[in-house]
Amino acid sequence: MTDRIDVLLADATETLRRGGVADAAADARILLCAATGLGRLDLLTRSDAAVSGADAGRFRAWIARRAKREPVSRILARREFRSLDFEVSSDTLDPRPDSETLVELALDMLASGPDAPRILDLGTGTGCLLLSLLDEIPAATGVGTDISPGACAVARRNADRLGFAGRARFFEGNWAEPVDGTFDLVVSNPPYIAAAEKSSLEPEVAAFDPETALFGGDDGLDAYREIAAAGASLLAPGGTLVLEIGHRQEAAVSDLFRNAGYRQVARRDDLGGRPRSLAFGA
Ligand code: GLN
Repeated sequence: MTDRIDVLLADATETLRRGGVADAAADARILLCAATGLGRLDLLTRSDAAVSGADAGRFRAWIARRAKREPVSRILARREFRSLDFEVSSDTLDPRPDSETLVELALDMLASGPDAPRILDLGTGTGCLLLSLLDEIPAATGVGTDISPGACAVARRNADRLGFAGRARFFEGNWAEPVDGTFDLVVSNPPYIAAAEKSSLEPEVAAFDPETALFGGDDGLDAYREIAAAGASLLAPGGTLVLEIGHRQEAAVSDLFRNAGYRQVARRDDLGGRPRSLAFGA
């Protein structure tokens, strides 16, 4: 039996729809391209062509995983963030487009800073925040920390593969505990979902992102409290702390940092127009 492209795609799309996947047809196309090495255009122009049995088998196995709501990025172990290609694993948060807002705000803050800034990324995961900043600022160097040894290993591999190994180092530990010295920029996208919101998350998130990367205690703010306590001593003179926040957390996070003695210097909204990132000075 041969497996034609159009038949494979139609069957897969139906399987994904039944599984409740939102973009069933689009995900089927992405996975078929990845399984076969074909381009998107090939799927249209050669839709009656057959693919090899091995490729069809790989594709069907991936479709079965996607139908159980595993994200495409986790099936392929890859996620694009600010046009860079990141490895993701079960130890890391899947980088979100919303976090590009944090990178943009951090770049704004660094525009008036030193030419060769030192950057610290707390809870680095894949390393996407730190490495995107290094990509934009050729003289910058940085350190990422993560409580998960597996995440640190992924971040190191991403730094190597993307060509930043000489400018980025990663240490395992709780927030700033493994680092010394001060930084011109401290960034973090901490876990900020309240424990009670767990049941309202999509299966793609709840079942596949690591819990430590998602949940910030009863009110979602535990990580901000820890970062506020540690942060001031980490900032070099004129340094800035830039944080991602949940879109309903602006007032709470702002108050928390102001009460801890910081001054809020900027805010940036995400593409949906919701407050997504805050910047503080000591
Ligand atoms: N810094 C990483 C990211 O933004 C991981 C953040 C986290 O695990 N909460 O993707």
